[in-house]
Amino acid sequence: MVRTHTLGFPRMGAHRELKFALEQYWRGDIDAAALEAEGADLRAQHWAVQQAAGLDFVTVGDFAFYDHVANHIQLLGCEPARFGFTGEEPELARYFSMARGAGADHSGHGAGCGCAKENAAGGRFALEMTKWFDTNYHYLVPEFRADTEFHLASQRLFDEVAQAMLAGHKVKAVLLGPLSFLWLGKEKEAGFDRFSLLEKLLPVYAQILDRLKALGVEWVQVDEPILGLDLPDRWRHAFEAAYWQLARSGVKLMLATYFSPLSDKLRLACQLPVAGLHVDAVRAAEDLTGVLDWLPSHKVLSVGIVDGRNIWRTDVDAALARLRPVADKHRGELWLAPSCSLLHVPYSLQTENALDAELKSWLAFAVEKLSELRVLRTVLRGEEASVQAELSASRAAIASRRSSPRVHREAVAARMGQAAPHADRRASGFAVRQPLQRRRLALPPLPTTTIGSFPQTADIRAARAAFKRGQLDEAQYRRKMQAEIALAVRKQEALGLDVLVHGEAERNDMVEYFGEQLEGFAFTANGWVQSYGSRCVKPPLIYGDVARTKPMTVDWTVYAQSLSPKPMKGMLTGPITMLQWSFVRDDQPRSTTARQIAWAIRDEVVDLERAGIAIIQIDEPAIREGLPLRRSGWQPYLEWATQAFRIAACGVRDETQIHTHMCYSEFNDILPGIAAMDADVITIETSRSDMALLRDFGDFRYPGEIGPGVYDIHSPRVPSVSEMLAQLEKAASVIAPGQLWVNPDCGLKTRGWPETEAALSNMVAAARALRARLA
Ligand code: GLN
Ligand code: ZN
Repeated sequence: MVRTHTLGFPRMGAHRELKFALEQYWRGDIDAAALEAEGADLRAQHWAVQQAAGLDFVTVGDFAFYDHVANHIQLLGCEPARFGFTGEEPELARYFSMARGAGADHSGHGAGCGCAKENAAGGRFALEMTKWFDTNYHYLVPEFRADTEFHLASQRLFDEVAQAMLAGHKVKAVLLGPLSFLWLGKEKEAGFDRFSLLEKLLPVYAQILDRLKALGVEWVQVDEPILGLDLPDRWRHAFEAAYWQLARSGVKLMLATYFSPLSDKLRLACQLPVAGLHVDAVRAAEDLTGVLDWLPSHKVLSVGIVDGRNIWRTDVDAALARLRPVADKHRGELWLAPSCSLLHVPYSLQTENALDAELKSWLAFAVEKLSELRVLRTVLRGEEASVQAELSASRAAIASRRSSPRVHREAVAARMGQAAPHADRRASGFAVRQPLQRRRLALPPLPTTTIGSFPQTADIRAARAAFKRGQLDEAQYRRKMQAEIALAVRKQEALGLDVLVHGEAERNDMVEYFGEQLEGFAFTANGWVQSYGSRCVKPPLIYGDVARTKPMTVDWTVYAQSLSPKPMKGMLTGPITMLQWSFVRDDQPRSTTARQIAWAIRDEVVDLERAGIAIIQIDEPAIREGLPLRRSGWQPYLEWATQAFRIAACGVRDETQIHTHMCYSEFNDILPGIAAMDADVITIETSRSDMALLRDFGDFRYPGEIGPGVYDIHSPRVPSVSEMLAQLEKAASVIAPGQLWVNPDCGLKTRGWPETEAALSNMVAAARALRARLA
């Protein structure tokens, strides 16, 4: 018997209906009942899609108004006490207080950062948000204390199950598993380990399962994605006892793992007392063989054969070739599924009108992925004849993608093949470069600069939009952007900054701007994916060999340089960030795609140098988030990722200074990798961690120069001169002052001009004060 199901489905709706409803509700334009109605409507539509695709169950419990982990916080009755809920507040109001904070807006800050806004919020600032494993989806982090209690506190899941049943669907409910739920949370007091809460948590899970069973649910999918992580022993050992406790309910459990190989936990996963196991056969292809050996024959094996993390059409023949031996060997039932929840891919190609027919034929979004499952199941059941048309369309698409000259560009392959072996090395080491650059740039000690972008005013955004719509012609647009550049340059000169930037007015997004000008990238009109809450992103699609056909930033940068005698920093996005924030090819390793982008960026770097630009910054904010989920994958990743950066950066002479920027501060575990990038200057975020993390750079004896962010740009607050001076002094106590730069901790595009000018003016004053003291 072969069945199909999905681990989850996108929530936003075909046209992001949920986003718009949420925003209306937050503005007060619709009431809670109307928002609930929209949610119910979307769920009904999504289940109908699942039913139409012939899935054997619809999945219930994957819907959330903001985030599924936040739903679990309410389901399990562990809302943080700091919100001071009395229990009188409606559930939805409490939910959004946790998600967005109550009182002052504290978004973009760390919980407990102690800033004025946090105090204004009276402790009712939003829960911290963090990345869901290695995706670009962000969940709300549960907060745990020693006295955290759990109880079944929300009816929402059961109501949704009832809604689906009433509509006549066969339901499989989904829950985030107890161990993953605890793991993903954080301790909010010292001297206590959230693991100790497991005992209190399990009875509530048991109650939930009992309730689901009583409602007539046969299968419950329990997600334990942490089985793909490196876990401390006590966590790993806890699975068995925990699942024995859950098994008592008698409802059938489908234990779902995804994103990363089970490897050392494969036998454990196979032997847990559950009725079925889901494995990610895309990300963890090797698990499939081991699972076939270890999974008892009475259990259901769910194979995640369709890629839930990417947008490519499944190669049906390749999938069948993998599934047939599984179907032969596994005596129990076989289920087919996407590798993980479809939350991470856009809704459907049906509403996509920006892509040409050929490119579109290579893709499958969530709705199309469900049809692929139907085709695979039909063939495995021996009814191939009834899906002949789908099979031939699929084969034709796969063949065209495989041989298309849009994908395989000989020039790109040839160039990479002929690359000099030392293309990823500067001519000389940093010790030689540093004095040459100093002589050329003649900067004061503790040079001041910014990270690249200046405020993106409504006016700038309107001009870009008008240009896109054709309401501004090329020449008008250029004049407008040049005026913005001139404004930014004037302001920087008045502020007394030492190294200037053009301000990035012409850029909507740091990846899209470059992707739009490179061969091999495409952009969808409607390929939205939830990032967090109502926020969606539309990642570019890298479908072919990447090449640069013309300079992308040189004109703007040269224009900016013409306005000032001070050095103008060229501003580029690095290869790993472009890779990380896009849907990438699955027909070649990520490392190859990264290298292709690197060569394209290198051409731009060399052109900037040739045009007289002495400093070029290559931003890599995403290099850390590309780290594989398991430690064993870190080293190989860091090797190719840093090599890609060096390929981009190393086409220049010793006298040209390469900067890079990263928006985070946890470096201690990857410092050798960061050093291997061989940038002359690195700017990082440290202001929110009080410079503490800078110590790692000191201890490591980081060879290059460092610009630790001296103030937090995520808030409009203007720090005083003495505050920034104190930060700088702390920095100077761990990093040699001769190695230090002075800058904010990220780009200023989300800020307004008044606070930006005030903060930068104080920053320059702080740098001057420390200079005077050191002199
Ligand atoms: N240069 C970019 C900017 O200033 C960097 C943004 C980022 O690191 N995310 O906006
Ligand atoms: Zn940044």
